[in-house]
Amino acid sequence: MKKDGNKKGKARRDTRIVTSGLDPHGNSGIINPPVYHVSTVLFPTVRDLKKAAGDPFNNTYYGRFGTPTTAAFEEAVAEIEGGEKAIATSSGLAAIACALTAFLKSGDHLLVADTVYEPTRKFCDGILKGFGVETEYYDPLIGADISGLMRDTTRVVFMESPGSLTFEVQDVPVIAAAAKERGIVSMLDNTWATPLFFRPFDHGVDIAIEAATKYIAGHADAMLGVTIMKEPHFKRLKTVAVALGNSAGPDDCYLGLRGLRTLALRMARHQETALTLANWLSGRSEIARVLHPALPGDPGHELWKRDFTGSCGLFGIELEPVAAEKVTAMLDGFELFSMGFSWGGFESLILPMEPKYSRSATTWEGKGPLLRVHAGLEDPDDLRADLEAGLKRLA
Ligand SMILES: *Cc1c(COP(=O)(O)O)cnc(C)c1O
Repeated sequence: MKKDGNKKGKARRDTRIVTSGLDPHGNSGIINPPVYHVSTVLFPTVRDLKKAAGDPFNNTYYGRFGTPTTAAFEEAVAEIEGGEKAIATSSGLAAIACALTAFLKSGDHLLVADTVYEPTRKFCDGILKGFGVETEYYDPLIGADISGLMRDTTRVVFMESPGSLTFEVQDVPVIAAAAKERGIVSMLDNTWATPLFFRPFDHGVDIAIEAATKYIAGHADAMLGVTIMKEPHFKRLKTVAVALGNSAGPDDCYLGLRGLRTLALRMARHQETALTLANWLSGRSEIARVLHPALPGDPGHELWKRDFTGSCGLFGIELEPVAAEKVTAMLDGFELFSMGFSWGGFESLILPMEPKYSRSATTWEGKGPLLRVHAGLEDPDDLRADLEAGLKRLA
């Protein structure tokens, strides 16, 4: 807390998760920040008006620029992620769109991992293309060879690790260093790892992005994104976020901040349950492969072990080839695993996935149906029993 500035400096991660972004003694001792609902901000004098207008990013000036609730959330996330500044946006996708828009213009070239979140791909292939930006997708396992794809017009390298749907782990430090050498901005969608299990700025990334909708809010009840950066990139990104009219709702910022306080506890449980289920599934005859980089033997395991300090609740399973009706019967019959897209909440999810429709630089080689599993906070034995009954429906 602000009164303990010095202690905070030395505090360990789990302490910072509790203390970051709090200013109780600036608000009658009340521990959580109030939720400010505001469009109109009033100024008592022309002098005050001019002062706020001169630096609207650091003053309460107009609802769209953010409120003290937004600032509390941003301050906390910036600290936990290891950046200096953060900008809250209306969703994770809005954070991605803002970051890309801020650093690209007509005639520029953009490198994007082939395993990127599909709506990110749609933004590049639709909006950015229409504005004259050329997107080139690269094999997420490219490593140092990314240099060969960099042109004089390349402005941004976008990473997501592990990749959406298929969980390939990227060599982020090597790619970020190659970008830095040429003055190219590197961005990383860090939603899977959360700020807890991958430290983007320790690995040379310029802009980190979190879909706070997922684990940071953590309760399937908010749409919220955040970009995190060091000071020099802040003004450019904030200018674009404001120019696009992209602002996060105060209730969602509050829910994001509230979710953040229990992130470490929840992630420990998500991690443990996912590993228990993934290990158990690896031994089942119905399963061709479990896609989880924290499992020894996974193609991404060595890089994961080098760079990450943990794993979340989300992983994939490739079934042995089986008739589509059997997979439908398996999915329709679950009692605890529900079907839904937005993961990171307290509940367990399972979904059929078809990565071949969202790849262009690589091909998905899987033979059997692919399912994406989100291990929630339910009792792991109940979840395993539900999965076991599901596997029986494949017979
Ligand atoms: C869900 C997700 C997003 C988008 O977040 P929204 O808040 O739903 O817009 C971005 N990246 C990844 C990896 C995601 O899983």
